[in-house]
Amino acid sequence: MSDVDRSTARATRMPVLFVGHGSPMNAIEDNAWSRAQRALGAALAASVGRPRAVLAISAHWYTRGTWLTGDQHPHTIHDFGGFPDALYRVEYPAPGDAALALQVARMLGRDEHALRTDWGLDHGTWSVLTHLLPEADVPVVQLSVDGTLSGSEHLALGSKLAPLRDQGVLILGSGNVTHNLPDAFQRMRSGDTSRAAWAERFDDEVAGAIEQHDGAFLARAHETELGNMAHPTPDHWLPLVYAFGASSGDDAVTFPVEGFELGALSMRAVRWG
Ligand code: ZN
Repeated sequence: MSDVDRSTARATRMPVLFVGHGSPMNAIEDNAWSRAQRALGAALAASVGRPRAVLAISAHWYTRGTWLTGDQHPHTIHDFGGFPDALYRVEYPAPGDAALALQVARMLGRDEHALRTDWGLDHGTWSVLTHLLPEADVPVVQLSVDGTLSGSEHLALGSKLAPLRDQGVLILGSGNVTHNLPDAFQRMRSGDTSRAAWAERFDDEVAGAIEQHDGAFLARAHETELGNMAHPTPDHWLPLVYAFGASSGDDAVTFPVEGFELGALSMRAVRWG
């Protein structure tokens, strides 16, 4: 990175992103989702330049306790089964940033014991970053999602991340606004290509709450009846709560990607700022 790039990274308040990742195949397919994610990456580069680092909160690092990747060279984890060989050959060789990981641990009330080197970058992170930052030259740290916490505790952790935005760190939540895989696969098997009404309704309610900056709703939305349908397990929901927590009511909100995979998996992306 040149000195000019460094000063730009420091001076620019980074947006916060939530991106719906859907199928891992989106990493290698040229489709509406991958094209929209590439366009989002290009729009970010044009508006705020290159981030100093990315802090990613992925649905696929769902843990007991809060952890951070502390590797200088996190490996690409192919954490899925039954996909074509080409997907297992994808590498996202971005460097890590142990100093940033330690800084984030301290911001969250933890210490160096929160850093782990037995994870890496899972597909929730790299399947999206391969489109947003295709050169894989920006350091990436992952923050795990502690499955033992309440929605409001996740929201509070997310809000503690907000100061990173002024340090050139792009905060990226990766999950899906609706994620009921048994339902989606059932629809696929039966050839049902219609859009699920419950998914559309939940997705609409969530979009409205984001526009209204309604954190109280978002912290609990997955626990409502509709939320339970959208999220039989909360792993793909909670990254959105972190991203929202790091946003502010002053941020402009846009939805750079909208629509449904398999008629029921919301691929909505959110950009704050
Ligand atoms: Zn996923």
